[in-house]
Amino acid sequence: MKFDLHTHHFRCGHAEGNISDYIEAAISVGLHAIGISDHSPYFGSKEEHPQPAIAMAKREFPNYVAEVLRLKEQYKDKIEVLLGVESDFFPDFAHIYQEVYAKYPFDYIIGSVHQTNGISIFNRNRWKKLKPAEKIAEKDTYYDLIQQSARNGMFQILGHIDAMKGFYPEFSDIPSNNLDETLHVIGQCGVAIEINTSGSTKDCGGWYPSDEILERALFHQVEVTFGSDAHRPSRVADDWEQVSQRLKEIGFKEWVYFRQKQKQIVKL
Ligand SMILES: [Zn+2]
Ligand SMILES: [Zn+2]
Repeated sequence: MKFDLHTHHFRCGHAEGNISDYIEAAISVGLHAIGISDHSPYFGSKEEHPQPAIAMAKREFPNYVAEVLRLKEQYKDKIEVLLGVESDFFPDFAHIYQEVYAKYPFDYIIGSVHQTNGISIFNRNRWKKLKPAEKIAEKDTYYDLIQQSARNGMFQILGHIDAMKGFYPEFSDIPSNNLDETLHVIGQCGVAIEINTSGSTKDCGGWYPSDEILERALFHQVEVTFGSDAHRPSRVADDWEQVSQRLKEIGFKEWVYFRQKQKQIVKL
């Protein structure tokens, strides 16, 4: 049983191709299920389309859902198409997002922290001139937000939980007071984390999260799933076999995906 729950397409303004291109790519690499999970619009913003190169307009969201549902039906004999979304997590606006999502039949929602203190986690400049204690505080803020996202209850999956290392590989070496507690909370809340293979396209290389975090996650009984975070169809299922192998080496026995928010367990 092969699946990939994290894919984007042209609507977000920085990915290539149509949804059907990703579905066709999934079929060609032998996936049994493909999750479509484009970036959520900025539902908390007063503006209709504040960041056209990062996320779709608010008004586009119903069209997105309708297209995925149409393709789910169209492809049902070839592959299971799952309706997802990669949602930003802003604690102050979480209730607004939740109200929107409640209107649609999502198979799952990925909660991703993309900003802390109003700055992108991928912005390398945010680390310049910080003293060691300030770096620790930045990391703790990041994990505090991830912890809140786990407790929130709206997400089945948490996205790329050490993506702050994306353009700042040194991030992994910053000590954190919060990481272990956050993994504990994620395990307690029964939310899955993804092994997201898009780190290979960034400075850090490799995957999110690191093997070290995955070992800690296993200790805290955190469940895992797979997401390529493909922004072009050719990356669908990227490194799937290697991730499966690595998880077994670390000691995981199973991974999960979601259908109508119900956890589906797959043996590794
Ligand atoms: Zn993206
Ligand atoms: Zn993301």
